[in-house]
This record gives sequence, C-alpha cells and structure tokens, in this order.
Amino acid sequence: MKLGFNEATCMKKSSLEMDLELCERYGYDYIEIRLDMLQEYLKNNTIEDLKKFFKHSHLKPYALNSIEDINFCSADSWNELVKLFKFACEVASEINNPYIVVVPTRGDDMRNKSEEEVFRDSVEVLNKLSDIAEPYGVKLAFEPIGSIKWCVRSIRQAWEIIKEVDRENVGIALDAFNIFIYDMLSDIHDLDLIPGEKIFVYHINDCEDRKLEDIREEHRLMPGDGIIPLDEISSKLKSKGYEGIASIELFRPEYWEMEPEDVIRLGSQKAKPYL
Ligand code: ZN
Repeated sequence: MKLGFNEATCMKKSSLEMDLELCERYGYDYIEIRLDMLQEYLKNNTIEDLKKFFKHSHLKPYALNSIEDINFCSADSWNELVKLFKFACEVASEINNPYIVVVPTRGDDMRNKSEEEVFRDSVEVLNKLSDIAEPYGVKLAFEPIGSIKWCVRSIRQAWEIIKEVDRENVGIALDAFNIFIYDMLSDIHDLDLIPGEKIFVYHINDCEDRKLEDIREEHRLMPGDGIIPLDEISSKLKSKGYEGIASIELFRPEYWEMEPEDVIRLGSQKAKPYL
C-alpha cells in the first residue's frame, strides 16, 4: 500500500500549502485534500498553482474529503450538496485526483430509519452522484461510519448498497476507526465480501482502549498506539491485491495542538509497518 495523509489530521494549525510541503518532505505518496482547506487555499492561490506543485512533486492527490450527509436531503440541502460536489468534480479532474469520499447522513433521527429505507435512499443518491461524476472521470468512495448516529454503519450494509448500485465509479472507503466502532470489528470477516477493485480508499488510524459506548472521534490515535487489529486489516487488504492509499486520518485535539511537521513526521513512521 501507499502512504497517504488526510488533511483532517493537522487541520487546526496547518494549511494546504503547508501540508503539501511537509508531506512531500516526509515521503508521503498521496494526499487527501479537504474541501474546506482547498477553498481557503484558493483565496490566495489558483488551481494552476496546485497543478504546478503536483507536476514537480512525488506527492500526488488521491481523494477529496468529503461530501457529507448525502442521505435524506431536503431540496435545499441537496442543491447545496450538488454545488459542492460539482466543484469537487471539477477540481478533481483538473488536478488528476481520482476519488471523492462521500459520507452517509448523521443525526439523532437516523436511528429511527429502517435499514430498508436507508438502502433505497443510498442506492438512489449514489446513482445520482455517480451520474454527475462520470463525465469528469471521478470515482466515489462511500464511507460507512460505525457510530449509532450515522445511517450506514457496517461493512456489510455499505457493501450491499454499493453492490446494488453496481457502477464502475462507486466503491467503498474503509476507515479502520469507523469500521471498528460498529462492533469492535467482530464483523471483520465481512471484508471478505468485497472484491479488491471495489476498495477505493483506506483510512488508517487506531483507537484508545475504551468501552465501545464511550469511544468518540477524539479517541483516534496514531496506527499501532491503540487496540484496532491493524495487522489483520492490512493482511486482508493485501490478500485482495489492494495497492491503494493507507491514509493517516485523525481527529485528535492533542495532535491538532502539535506542530504539523511533528505530526506528519510521526504519522509516516507509525503507518509504515502496515503498508
Ligand atoms: Zn475516514
């Protein structure tokens, strides 16, 4: 697998310019650019600047993060979402960035939706986004999030949706933390259901040793520092021939307070054993 960096990891102290420079310096192969940080960058820079950087760097763009709350949209929220999604597709095709991460809807009311409702809605919405993305040559990586607040939570549930959608440009984003918090990976064998070519993105991270119901985003840790069986995930991905990104994605306030350079250096050391 290739070493990747997701910009969420240092988003409080860093910028796209700084992440690009540091990821290149510390040997990362790919970066996952955040759309909010890209919009900030474009206040003082252009897409041409970004293209120029990638033309001369080892570092390449991989997946834009992220289009969120894609399910059960109102007409207004759908229009907003499509506007952002089209912007992402345009940038992606300009800079040769193959994937966009799309995320199911979060909300307290999501636990009242039946799996059948969520399935039908997800299939419809992913098809619509797939239609929009196709002319740009961009692919959608759909990321299940295990917490009860999200409407698509498990590996199996996400895969059944993607299988039904059955489009060449729709696959899965596996996030070690997000699949772990569903049921501490008691369902890890469900990874066997997914063919290697449908795994588009892998977010690598670890989790503090806590009771499942107490785990929050801020308990994400550097790979190897927690209790997620990352060796097992790695060997499953490798056995499928997955050679894509393993991207450090952490939402940990402690890392947000650190110097981005220290976090990015540490991230490359921590992730390498699992590539
Ligand atoms: Zn993720």
